Amino acid sequence: MDKRPSLFESAQAQLDEVASMLHLEPGIHAILREPMRELHVSIPVKMDDGEVKVFKGFRVQYNDALGPCKGGLRFHPDETIDTVRALAAWMTWKCAVIDAPFGGSKGGVICNPKEMSSGELERLSRGYIDAVWQFIGPNRDIPAPDVYTNPQIMAWMMDEYSKLKGYYVPEVITGKPIAVGGSVGRSGATARGGVYTLVEAAKHLDIDLSAATVAVQGYGNVGSNAAILIHDMLGSKIIAVSDSKGGIYNKQGFDPHKASQYKAETGSVINFPEAGNISNDDLLELGVTILCPSALENVITKENAPRIKAKIVAALANGPITPEADELLNHNGVFVIPDFLCNAGGVTVSYFEWVQCLDKYYWDEEEVHHRLSRSMRRAFQAVLGESLKRKVSMRLAAYIVAVARVAEAMRLRGWA
Ligand code: NAD
Repeated sequence: MDKRPSLFESAQAQLDEVASMLHLEPGIHAILREPMRELHVSIPVKMDDGEVKVFKGFRVQYNDALGPCKGGLRFHPDETIDTVRALAAWMTWKCAVIDAPFGGSKGGVICNPKEMSSGELERLSRGYIDAVWQFIGPNRDIPAPDVYTNPQIMAWMMDEYSKLKGYYVPEVITGKPIAVGGSVGRSGATARGGVYTLVEAAKHLDIDLSAATVAVQGYGNVGSNAAILIHDMLGSKIIAVSDSKGGIYNKQGFDPHKASQYKAETGSVINFPEAGNISNDDLLELGVTILCPSALENVITKENAPRIKAKIVAALANGPITPEADELLNHNGVFVIPDFLCNAGGVTVSYFEWVQCLDKYYWDEEEVHHRLSRSMRRAFQAVLGESLKRKVSMRLAAYIVAVARVAEAMRLRGWA
């Protein structure tokens, strides 16, 4: 029998560790160990061949002590309620650590969008909203894109919700296209937020970023935007990047704009003319100043952690470092910017999008970047302060800051 903890059991174990450090009251701890509400739905969709297929969907509202729940929606063939619960818990901590007035939630539909036509995807997206619309809402739970969902899907969902309500409700969902109430600066926000935390980390460690070398694993939305911003804003040298097919490496550095263009033309960064090829595993172990895991979960483990030579690991992906590896990195003096702090720029600009939709007044890009910078720097300093005060890793410190904020709100509201 498989005894490994499920993803949600791991999320509960992480909470248990922090609860004991914070001496949380048993009642508050017990409430925080479970989702407050969850909805399981069956969504009938008429497929292009005329058959009706029924898809399973979920929405989990983990905790709303700090405000309406906020969390993405995944369309994935391997989606499970366990994963959605874990991601909803992590959204609760992510919103709390950046001090956004939101609880955490997550949603998912078991489907393979790569095998569906655009019409089928639209009917599934509208069907999901038909099934959950009374459970969500601008003051209850605000979805956003996540794995295999995108701004177009958000636009269909917002439209369906608006039809059901009888009026235009752009504030029900974030990550929408700009023409239907999206925010400028949303698409690059996760990477940009991560770069702001990197600047703070370098200041703390007294590292000159203009002389830094950088390796980025994953060259999608987050990884390619991060490489370009680090290169353009900070003047660091990008020496290696990768995608699912492999990586490229040139110790003299290369232009990440050209690598992006090359990937857009060929489908991968490999064989980029200005660099040699390197494996994804070797990229992680390069002697760089900054390593940005920006692809998948569990890529830095207790096996390879002792060989990581970077001074700073900026965890832009969700869950790229296992908890054991995190301890090893911390012990070896590698400074880790933990994932739910490092990649919180996306939900921060989602928060700005919700505010702009409610106000019916839209900001320019400069304003979005300025406010994002302020939020990320503030969150970083709160976590760093806790890490120095308690002499714990940045990951544990981020949990402590987040869980303490949620627990305080629960206490004040008289929940336990
Ligand atoms: P994406 O699909 O745009 O890009 C993923 C990239 O990873 C692609 O370049 C892909 O080729 C690469 N990849 C896949 N398998 C790989 C492997 N085995 N080795 C190396 N590279 C591999 O996704 P994204 O939106 O950039 O998200 C990346 C990570 O960031 C995910 O963990 C996601 O959950 C997290 N994240 C994204 C956002 C956001 O706003 N997009 C916000 C928070 C967290």
